[in-house]
Amino acid sequence: MSDRASDVQDIIDRYKRTIEAGISPVPLANLVDAPHLADIIHDHVDLFDAVTRDYLAALRRHRELPRYLREKIARARVYPEVDETLVKSAFSDLGIPYLDGVDMISVGDSIYTYGPLQCDADGTVASVSTAALLAHELIHAIQADAHGGEAGFAAAYTAAGNYLANAFEIAAYCFGGSPPAAIAAKMPVERPVLKETALYGEWWRLA
Ligand SMILES: [Zn+2]
Repeated sequence: MSDRASDVQDIIDRYKRTIEAGISPVPLANLVDAPHLADIIHDHVDLFDAVTRDYLAALRRHRELPRYLREKIARARVYPEVDETLVKSAFSDLGIPYLDGVDMISVGDSIYTYGPLQCDADGTVASVSTAALLAHELIHAIQADAHGGEAGFAAAYTAAGNYLANAFEIAAYCFGGSPPAAIAAKMPVERPVLKETALYGEWWRLA
């Protein structure tokens, strides 16, 4: 890691500690049918941005992609009701564009939600919309791996520019999520595959 990247990582680490302090995270795998989600992503690697696609293609050549996806989901943690003001100052300090009006955001394997996490009695996430948004954030966590980690992804994400034209967002929106701001801006969401329940079944419910 270059000096600059390690400085950025230090800032990210410091903010993450503060943002996550006192919040009990919920493993993403407790909220949705994780193996099913891994299968869906596996079948749609072509929808990723170019760098992530190459990264996943290399894993596939070595037959590691299914295992990677399962392990990735197992590492993802959801932190409900984080302080948006803190997240915004982190993004501001790091020079990363921030879109007001989003409900969730992720930093590496940490997925932050601003509202409470709505779950059914069995602990499963209560709606396919929320689940799709969680999966959208998971796509960003995969993109971060492809860019060498949080600091590398922060730089690539910022360089990719405007939120609604950002290649990483466009890829993640293929998989799911539809924050009000994106809908208002008529952002093209071509294939929100995770909401195609007729094809993919109730992947958001635990089996
Ligand atoms: Zn996103």
